[in-house]
Amino acid sequence: MDTRNEITTNKPTTLGFGVATGCVDGLPTERTTWHDNDPKLLTAAWFSAGVSSAVAVKKYINYIDRIYYTNIDDQHPDSMRFVKDCEQWFGQPVEIMQSELRNVENACTKRAGKGYINGPKGAKCTSKLKRKVRMDWEREHEEYHLRYVWGVDLYEKHRYDRLNISMPAMEHVAPLIDLGITKTTAHQILRASGIKRPAMYDLGYSNNNCVGCVKGGMGYWNKIRIDFPEVFKARAEMERRVGHSCINGVFLDELDPDRGRNSPMIMDDCGIFCELMAV
Ligand code: SF4
Repeated sequence: MDTRNEITTNKPTTLGFGVATGCVDGLPTERTTWHDNDPKLLTAAWFSAGVSSAVAVKKYINYIDRIYYTNIDDQHPDSMRFVKDCEQWFGQPVEIMQSELRNVENACTKRAGKGYINGPKGAKCTSKLKRKVRMDWEREHEEYHLRYVWGVDLYEKHRYDRLNISMPAMEHVAPLIDLGITKTTAHQILRASGIKRPAMYDLGYSNNNCVGCVKGGMGYWNKIRIDFPEVFKARAEMERRVGHSCINGVFLDELDPDRGRNSPMIMDDCGIFCELMAV
């Protein structure tokens, strides 16, 4: 059976949630179905200010109670313009959250941040600047049954499955998977809305992560060196202070400017999957 046009949830019965039945354009029509059944249900979208995330929120907007964006000072300034444009598009406010550490430099150099930046155990900054903010929020909302909306796309089903296993206390919804929407289609949907995507995409980056994202590879860093030389310099200095490199053992101040030039610049969005890995 082709279930792509049905919004599904990972465990509708565990917490006694009802499942909506009517569908318009693949989306359930009765928001109240769930709320009537479970007054403690709180549906929160963790908006990343990326294109897939924006389209996922828009598609599911009738069922979302709160939309959160976790800001980091290292985001390209155009991110906030995008958040505000999306707020209009969603017709619902986007609440801005931010760690008191504010930026990647602080997350990697202050307190327990020392000695590690990024590696197989995930990125320190994701843990400090995003995961901790979300977990603090969860502690403040312990009385609710939480449903989270994520911007994972059709080709990220394996990640969505992992999410359900890693965070079993919440219900997780992935509108793009349910509606068969790929990253490319998400960009088309956003373009059709008239909203300009965040500037980082137009500069050739595959997502709207922080400028100078510690998860980037050699090709990424050599592009940052050209596009944002001051960020490259700051991250190179930070590596030396911390005593750890962003790229697997190669310090940025030793990186050959030609390395990675011909490799595809693949880097994961800094989203929940990055958080799940983070130390
Ligand atoms: S986008 Fe990159 S630099 Fe920013 S918090 Fe996430 S992993 Fe760290």
